[in-house]
Amino acid sequence: MQERLRALPKVQTLLESEQANDLINLYGYEDVADAVRGRLQIARDQIIANDLEVSLTPASLLSGVDDDLRAARRVSLRTAINATGIIIHTNLGRSRLAPEAIAAVSEVARSYSNLEFDLATGKRGSRHDHAEDLICQLTGAEAALVVNNCAAAILSVLTALGAETPIVASRGEMVEIGGSFRMPDVIAQSGAILREVGTTNKTHLSDYADAICEDTSVLLKSHTSNYAVVGFTSVPSREALAQLAAETKTVLVEDLGSGVLVDLGPYGLPDEPVVRDVLSAGVDVVTFSGDKLLGGPQAGIIAGRREVIDRVRKHPITRAVRIDKLSLAALMATLDLYRAPNNPFERVPVLQALSEPAQAIELRARDLEAALRTMPQIDVDVLRSMARAGGGALPQQDLPSFAVSLKSSALSPDGIAAALRHAPVPVIGRISRDTFMLDMRAVQAQEVTQIEQSVTASLAQ
Ligand SMILES: *Cc1c(COP(=O)(O)O)cnc(C)c1O
Repeated sequence: MQERLRALPKVQTLLESEQANDLINLYGYEDVADAVRGRLQIARDQIIANDLEVSLTPASLLSGVDDDLRAARRVSLRTAINATGIIIHTNLGRSRLAPEAIAAVSEVARSYSNLEFDLATGKRGSRHDHAEDLICQLTGAEAALVVNNCAAAILSVLTALGAETPIVASRGEMVEIGGSFRMPDVIAQSGAILREVGTTNKTHLSDYADAICEDTSVLLKSHTSNYAVVGFTSVPSREALAQLAAETKTVLVEDLGSGVLVDLGPYGLPDEPVVRDVLSAGVDVVTFSGDKLLGGPQAGIIAGRREVIDRVRKHPITRAVRIDKLSLAALMATLDLYRAPNNPFERVPVLQALSEPAQAIELRARDLEAALRTMPQIDVDVLRSMARAGGGALPQQDLPSFAVSLKSSALSPDGIAAALRHAPVPVIGRISRDTFMLDMRAVQAQEVTQIEQSVTASLAQ
């Protein structure tokens, strides 16, 4: 062992070679020297652990150094394939954009635009004007405003309407969603004082009414997104709450979270509240996300009564959390796909994935199975599976789907998952019933070849 350790080339010798010189010209001396030391340390550890089968030459060491330097420079944010079966997967970037939205981003990025310039008067315009008409058309709202995300939308609304005043909300709706968004914390951050009413499972209209005092500014209702209270439950209707808000001169705000613009009922999905219906039931202001069921970019939409929206628009916090022009372009292009003659279920990827019949998904699963069948040591099968909408929407609704299962005599399901995460195009699946699965509901047809390449590259022995 000592002999093998001594036989390793010295750092200095390696750095003086011609091959190293090329790398130094590209990456600089310090980075190459660090990478060389790193590779030599790994080689030493392997020799000590008696784990090094091939003998290392200076050339093979430096080619490893080259790989390391390239890998270290790879941009960390990159594309991955979502074979988890969760369509709106927050950890994987939520929604993919429609081609029209991608084109709009690219155009606005390439050029100057009338983002805050009124072409009619030649004077300063407002970025909020662009999306407002579209949102009003699609939701029936009098006025609308777009900010950075839904969390920012709620924070803006509550800060502008409720700071330093009591706001009343049901205990059963104090939701925590992923990424440490907790409703009570957001309320505290806005400067409002939370008056929590009711119990976990039941809140009555009288609970709200009893808690309202002279200073109360807001009645807040929230979508419970990622949980459901079942059994003996009750909440007052929106109409009843709206009437109470009108009588007590408070503002009824509803955080819808996902927010849908179209009825998902005809596609066999239970009724997620449609924004238009919520507003017409009398809710004054709603907030919802751009990149959940809407299928657009990260954004937070605030829509409702003009007088209330104007107060939110004028508050400085709304400026601090404003939407950027790339997201605004993507949002408007996405919203346009909801207008006739477009059918959003054919044009918005999230809605396509949600409404696709299981037989069509099975065909993709069979294509992938056929492509992988010849791989030695891998057992490939097509199974029925259950997908989910994700993104805090429709938490209880399973969507029938199909998955390709991969089994290996050499690797555990966790081992397969890890290998595919490290593929050139990472493929993220899930483990169910102790089997590694690639659910095909959120996978598009053109990604089947990419999956095949990633699986072949990572699992071929
Ligand atoms: C997802 C969600 C939010 C936060 O939306 P972001 O766009 O991620 O900021 C807020 N409220 C509810 C109920 C949600 O489901």
